[in-house]
Amino acid sequence: MTPDRNLRLTNATIIDGTGTPPLHNGVLDITPDGHIAYVGTAAEAPANHGADERDLHGATLLPGFIDCHVHLGFTLANGPFHTLQNDPALIVLESVARIRATLDAGITSARDLGGLSQGFREAIDQALIPGPRLKLAVSPISHTAGHGDMHLHGGTLAPTIPELIEIADTVDEVRKATRRVLRQGADLIKICTTGGMGSRHDHPDDEGLRLDEVRAIHDELDRHGGKPIAAHAQGRKGILTAIRGGVTSVEHGYGIDDEGLDLLEERGAFLVPTLSTVFAIDKKTMQPYHYAKKVKWSEITKKNIGHAIARGAKIALGTDAGVCPHGQNLRELGHLVDLGMSPMNALIAGTRTASELLGISDEVGTLETGKLADLVVTDTDPLQDIHALADPSRIQIVMKAGAYVKDLGNTAAHTTPA
Ligand SMILES: [Zn+2]
Repeated sequence: MTPDRNLRLTNATIIDGTGTPPLHNGVLDITPDGHIAYVGTAAEAPANHGADERDLHGATLLPGFIDCHVHLGFTLANGPFHTLQNDPALIVLESVARIRATLDAGITSARDLGGLSQGFREAIDQALIPGPRLKLAVSPISHTAGHGDMHLHGGTLAPTIPELIEIADTVDEVRKATRRVLRQGADLIKICTTGGMGSRHDHPDDEGLRLDEVRAIHDELDRHGGKPIAAHAQGRKGILTAIRGGVTSVEHGYGIDDEGLDLLEERGAFLVPTLSTVFAIDKKTMQPYHYAKKVKWSEITKKNIGHAIARGAKIALGTDAGVCPHGQNLRELGHLVDLGMSPMNALIAGTRTASELLGISDEVGTLETGKLADLVVTDTDPLQDIHALADPSRIQIVMKAGAYVKDLGNTAAHTTPA
């Protein structure tokens, strides 16, 4: 039986996220329960008596985008004392505002890789607040003095989000840390197999969790239904350790070489290059140590991630928002294109491939019959000017499971007679 169609979007230029060329004068039908009932040409569209019809006037209709690397629980620019200096209610509501800004930027699903507790995911699922569907890592696991160890030079634990930090230094400790993070409601485990740039006491080429520890986490997760692992991995050696240990995705991956790319391909792992963060360099606001690392590693990134793109590595969109500004997530697409990716492949990285990494490709990630109607409407032509998508004001409509969550009203709407 044909499902009832409660909404028909017409006169759309449809880019469905599968790599199929744009379909002009396209139609997309949405059922009352928020699924896509039809997507295709106007000529072949079935009858839709009684449906609300909205003319998109040729605007581009895309799947809702997916950011695989965000930190919605903080804005690094606020400094390490922000949570100490402010009321807890304000801290929570700031996260709510960041979640809203992420949705407004066209992100309908996101993976938070540290610093956001499970209550936010529940609040969104219960429709208490608007936000992207979330997958959470909650607390990243790191060695003492590793990338995730937030102790300051004076010895105090920097209270950015102190309860969401896991320090573990042995195989037994990482197993126990994994169990604690699962108890916190994590959908996946985030680990640090290298140092980083924002951390003062280490460097991207420093190694973090050891191979036996990564394997132990993998094994521990297998005992709990096989959840994914995301590895913060910037330098070459730690990238290899992460992939050999069985991670699902390499985050950043700036130092990846051909050996790493071969392994990535062999294991079917994803690369999330977070170019938005490595290219966010501001001498005025950054600590000198941080600035120097960024200048050096942005050049390394251009070469290595450019090469990964040329080799066709499985790349998913991720920004590291929180370290770089929130609410400009689609800036990442332009960075990928600047390093040699085609605009169409950048759109796929931000939709279909990202949905595969999050394990939600049965439901979202492409505009296909039967999937949830998570979608974005923009007045830009992303194949001509991908950089324009970085501006949230160019994202006119965002829909999550068939419900409007953003509507700037720039397209005509009317109801057809029943
Ligand atoms: Zn991050």
